[in-house]
Amino acid sequence: MATAYFHHPDCEKHDMGDDHPESPRRLSAIREHLQQTGLWEQLAINEAEEASHDELRRAHPDSYISQLEQMTPSQGRIMADPDTAMNPHTFRSAKLAAGSGIQAVNQVLTNQARNAFCAIRPPGHHAERSRTMGFSFFNNIAIAALHALTFHHLERVAILDFDVHQGNGTVDIFHHDPRVLLCSSFQHPFYPFKHSHGMPGHILNVPLDPGTDSATYRQAITDGWFEELAAFKPQLILVSAGFDAHRLDPLADVNLETEDYSWITEQITRLAGELCRGRVISMLEGGYHLQSLTEGVEAHIRGLLAAS
Ligand SMILES: [Zn+2]
Repeated sequence: MATAYFHHPDCEKHDMGDDHPESPRRLSAIREHLQQTGLWEQLAINEAEEASHDELRRAHPDSYISQLEQMTPSQGRIMADPDTAMNPHTFRSAKLAAGSGIQAVNQVLTNQARNAFCAIRPPGHHAERSRTMGFSFFNNIAIAALHALTFHHLERVAILDFDVHQGNGTVDIFHHDPRVLLCSSFQHPFYPFKHSHGMPGHILNVPLDPGTDSATYRQAITDGWFEELAAFKPQLILVSAGFDAHRLDPLADVNLETEDYSWITEQITRLAGELCRGRVISMLEGGYHLQSLTEGVEAHIRGLLAAS
């Protein structure tokens, strides 16, 4: 079966300014790198479609969605929060990013693809129910999970978040929803400085000290996630795939190597093979050093292809 790849050129029109690390260049660099390495031809390429209002409102209230639409500037940029700007294209880009996860869930759960990667932006895991944060507007991975639970009637979905920042938005949305096991690793203490203590049993935090190296990381993930993930018996594994724990990334201080993204992908696809017929859907979150981002995505996609 195939590894599906979702993208859309309009996800590159959302632009928060020349100095902003979450730049459109991230997506074009990934595409060019996959073409240069020959991986592009091995993927089933799909153009993303916008998530509908009803699909967005599973994770966000009507008032929040319409507020973002109304805030959209007709020209120039406005700040939605101190880190996160909107230009005239942002609202559409955000709906395309969320929509790619819906399509990926549909393809994987109907056996059109074994697994999928969504190369989209804006990222989503910092978006809370009613609040933009950390370059995020709609919580893409939460919207995908809620589509699988609601539309496809799954009962248990796991979200693995290996971005270097905690997915506070995903915690906010699923804090009271034990149908979702949220396994997260993140530098601590660090942005977004939330949800570090007193979490319910279905939210597994693996905090990482600044300077964490490959061996320490792999042991922490193995100890923190795998046993409970197997016991949870997910019917689908979703991945918030951020590549900003790489040692070259300018936004954080964890020291992973590109090989660690091969390792984590092998672990995820192995567990998915044992637990849920290999069903994995991965969505891009952070990663701001273009070379380590593109090489990390390459390693991740090689792992998905090997399992498809
Ligand atoms: Zn991040």
